[in-house]
Amino acid sequence: MAQNKDYYNLLGVDKSATKKEIKKAYKKLAMKYHPDRAPEEKKVEYEEKFKEISEAASVLGDDTKRSKYDQFGSSAFSGGGAGGSGFQGFDFSDIMSQFRFGGGGGDDIFDSLFGGRGQRGRRVYQGSDLLYEMTITLEEAATGTTKTIQINKLDHCGECKGKGGTNISSCSTCNGSGQTSTVQRTPFGAFRQQRPCHACGGEGEVPENVCGPCGGEGLQRKKKKLDVKVPKGIESNMRLRLTREGEAGKNGGPYGNLFVQISISAHKYFERRSDNLHITVPISFHQAVLGDEIEVHTITGKAILKIPKGTDSETIFRMKGKGMPHLRSTTIGDQMVKVHIEVPKKVSKKQKEALDKFKDNPSKGFFADLFSK
Ligand SMILES: [Zn+2]
Ligand SMILES: [Zn+2]
Repeated sequence: MAQNKDYYNLLGVDKSATKKEIKKAYKKLAMKYHPDRAPEEKKVEYEEKFKEISEAASVLGDDTKRSKYDQFGSSAFSGGGAGGSGFQGFDFSDIMSQFRFGGGGGDDIFDSLFGGRGQRGRRVYQGSDLLYEMTITLEEAATGTTKTIQINKLDHCGECKGKGGTNISSCSTCNGSGQTSTVQRTPFGAFRQQRPCHACGGEGEVPENVCGPCGGEGLQRKKKKLDVKVPKGIESNMRLRLTREGEAGKNGGPYGNLFVQISISAHKYFERRSDNLHITVPISFHQAVLGDEIEVHTITGKAILKIPKGTDSETIFRMKGKGMPHLRSTTIGDQMVKVHIEVPKKVSKKQKEALDKFKDNPSKGFFADLFSK
């Protein structure tokens, strides 16, 4: 299983490369192969590549590991090998998120990658993403809108600026490793069990003067008002992403994102089918027979629809460009108007006579007389 990998080759550097050159090469490749940038069909390939180069960089970027690698090859780092420190437990998602949100990757990334934990402050965590559900009207979806929302989220503590306190020093319980281990003896042998240190929460470091307002967490729950711009043409269940408006990360880490999930409330008259709007409008027997121009409501106002004479009930007319705008485009859907002929349920004696006459002797103008009463 432990095939030998050429870490220098993976990073495209030569054996005499300096640490700086290694970092630079890794940063470039990590940006290129970040799984977030992968085309859908290459997600797995990119992720594998990303892991490989991260593994290579974490070895070549650490002097001790590098000299071990130069002597024994990569097998020194696969679990149980001569080196012992394998890549099990290597948190790629953390590395990835730092590339994603660190604006191309600050030096923190290299600290956590190149075994530098504890050298430049504690490991940072990306904050959680938040989801906000917003309901808007169909009219608002047609024109676009801006809504002010208030969210309640974890933010960096204003008092300690997210650090959790002052005089941060190595944890005495775990000697800065962040882990405590217990040895269990069983008939099959001794098992060493590792757990995150309870004193420092696995951080390896603790502030000497714990911040009061946040109790050392570095985070505080705060209310925040935000203006959310909802683009016209949005559809139900679409999500808007507000970059870095999620929760703050621990130890001064980057913010997560805020997702606003849209739902559009049902409309009394309109039914949306993709970009088209469907509506049913009543017309009279008279209008159906003789034709007319009627005023029809649209999602943004009113428009005139011509009913040709001799229109059957349930005929559908298309009003071009009166539907919903297509999201982030200039295309606009149509309004489909179905006309429904309302048949009078009661007729007067005079109307009945007129209708009888129509039956025997149909003529133009007849219904005008009938309904103008
Ligand atoms: Zn604080
Ligand atoms: Zn500890």
